[in-house]
Amino acid sequence: MSLSNETVPASRGRAFQMKAGQFAVITNTHGNQVVDTWALAAEDRFETSSLDHTRSVNSNIFFTEGMALISSRRRAMLTMIRDSAKVRHDTLLCPCNHELYQQLGCQEYHRSCTDNFHEAISEYGIELPQTPASLNLFMNVPVTDDGTVDRVPPDTAAGDFVVLRAEIDLLLVLSACPQDITLINGPSRTPKDIAVRIVDTLPPEVFA
Ligand SMILES: [Zn+2]
Repeated sequence: MSLSNETVPASRGRAFQMKAGQFAVITNTHGNQVVDTWALAAEDRFETSSLDHTRSVNSNIFFTEGMALISSRRRAMLTMIRDSAKVRHDTLLCPCNHELYQQLGCQEYHRSCTDNFHEAISEYGIELPQTPASLNLFMNVPVTDDGTVDRVPPDTAAGDFVVLRAEIDLLLVLSACPQDITLINGPSRTPKDIAVRIVDTLPPEVFA
């Protein structure tokens, strides 16, 4: 079964069931939108994507074409088989949460990738007591030789996309990051929708 033209609304999260061998085409519809990404194994919700194992297996602190998102049990969950613009994707920084926005000065409730994660999995009847680290697609976090980590706007244009191939049956969880205080979602500081397709065979534009 293929899903077409699904949307993760700006500042919201959604989860998508994937079978091994299916592809997720994740499109930065308007550009400059960070997408926090997780995977939960279908057979065991406690086997989650693990960025520490991901960095270890890939021997890299970034995430590029050909690399796999690795689980807490050291299994490949998703492989990025295509990155149309070959932009930076971050593996280091945390998903935003309530406390982060408080530290940025928010007095009222502010949506967060952490809340989006838990809301999205709850739609599938899943609860987790913790929030795994996220793979931060399109998030531009340069690292200098002395280890300093910067945060700059994404280097994406409208229509840029990545393709992830599921290596096991899993739940893919995506959050269109609600960050509107820093520049991490671009100079407009405006979270935007992203588009998602779960497909059995790759659409022609992936090969263009
Ligand atoms: Zn976020």
